Amino acid sequence: MSDYDYDLFVIGAGSGGVRAARISAAHGAKVAVAEEYRVGGTCVIRGCVPKKLLVYGAHFAEDLKDARRFGWDVPECGFNWKTLRDNVLADVDRLNGIYQQTLDTNSVTTFHERATIAGPHEIALASGEKVTARYILVATGAWPMVPDIEGAEHGITSNEVFHIDEMPKRVVIAGGGYIANEFAGIFHEFGAHVTIVNRSDTILRGYDTQIRDRLLQISMVKGINFRFNAPFEKIEKNEDGTLCVRIKGGDPIACDLLLFATGRQPNSKGLGLENAGVELDDQGAIKVDEFSKTSCESVYAVGDVTNRVQLTPVAIREGHAFADTVFGNNPRKVDYTNIPSAVFSHPPIGAVGMTEAEARNKLGTVKVYTSDFRAMKNVLANRNERALYKMIVDAATDKVVGLHMIGPDAPEILQAAAVAVKAGLTKQDFDDTVALHPSMAEELVLLK
Ligand code: NDP
Repeated sequence: MSDYDYDLFVIGAGSGGVRAARISAAHGAKVAVAEEYRVGGTCVIRGCVPKKLLVYGAHFAEDLKDARRFGWDVPECGFNWKTLRDNVLADVDRLNGIYQQTLDTNSVTTFHERATIAGPHEIALASGEKVTARYILVATGAWPMVPDIEGAEHGITSNEVFHIDEMPKRVVIAGGGYIANEFAGIFHEFGAHVTIVNRSDTILRGYDTQIRDRLLQISMVKGINFRFNAPFEKIEKNEDGTLCVRIKGGDPIACDLLLFATGRQPNSKGLGLENAGVELDDQGAIKVDEFSKTSCESVYAVGDVTNRVQLTPVAIREGHAFADTVFGNNPRKVDYTNIPSAVFSHPPIGAVGMTEAEARNKLGTVKVYTSDFRAMKNVLANRNERALYKMIVDAATDKVVGLHMIGPDAPEILQAAAVAVKAGLTKQDFDDTVALHPSMAEELVLLK
């Protein structure tokens, strides 16, 4: 008989928590999970999944236009936001059900309420009940950060954006990162007038400069506006419900919707972490070792709450490695090198490995190969939008150390190419591979 109610108690049923719970249960552990909102977490409920569906929906604006050049007799089409919104939310419900089913079929007990840590082995539930566990896993994710400015309450975040009642005519998006650029594309394709307002003069910090510049240039040609070096002063709400966004050193911007996309903070507040001596870093992220163990022996943490790499597949890997380590007798660390990433902008970006600047700083001599081309579909469609593929090669070893792409389907192509980068293949290996013609991906094996 165990001294505890559960072998594992997971707080947070998002991507990392559900994977950890399921695999731990498969290893024979008695597992419970607490979720105060909906099983599935950010990615499924209010992130990657509904966002990608909106990206698909938005792209029809261009496809319908282009179809005419391909001979289709397309009448003037209208767009109904409520139809798309409700269909997307229904799909979110479906996935929420599947996630719950996964927990149930693996005999994981679900508490649909908030849980906090009362001690190294003790969990307090919102109902007042207390339970004990040999191990506690914190997988509470992150939460949108809204800057402390007057009138910020008039804006929304990515939590609310999937539920809006009407498609706004004018949108201001605060921030220049993933969410800002993805939703700029979405709103723009749905016909809104979009302005991105960023405190610095760059978008998508961390991505290769040339790729970022290409997205900026394409976005501006499409009609998306940018205000750089423009910190917010205050936001005022007019009597008719519209907003006036005041920025330092620039004209005020009138809009119907303000979306804050200014980063996400680890969800570590009010969890009772201090009751188990769990330490945080200065960003509020839970400090963990390479096995995701916190400063308390019996408490682990995975996913965005640890702020290592805020990406769903990383949280899933961390959750799986935790379960194998603690309950599968197979200690495993997550390998954080060469993690591919994508921005689902219009057009999208895919990247893996070092940017040109990083490679030059780290390796010294690098060779850079680029292909700057117009996808054949865009040529026939008269769409003056050029793709850019960039390969960074270590001159000393001929190894491909980075791939950066912007263009149609870039993330789909990049995922496969990332295998080659991860495997340490050389430029010669790419050159030795026969092109698949005609495709956009063939550019990767034809770089000169
Ligand atoms: P990002 O970190 O991508 O971008 C944040 C942006 O907000 C930056 O432009 C930053 O400016 C700006 N900013 C930060 N703090 C402030 C502030 N106090 N006031 C004004 N501006 C500020 O965050 P997102 O919110 O777009 O996304 C959050 C995370 O979610 C991402 O980091 C990513 O990990 C994940 N995500 C991943 C997606 C994907 O994989 N496709 C899609 C969506 C989200 P500056 O550059 O000057 O720092």
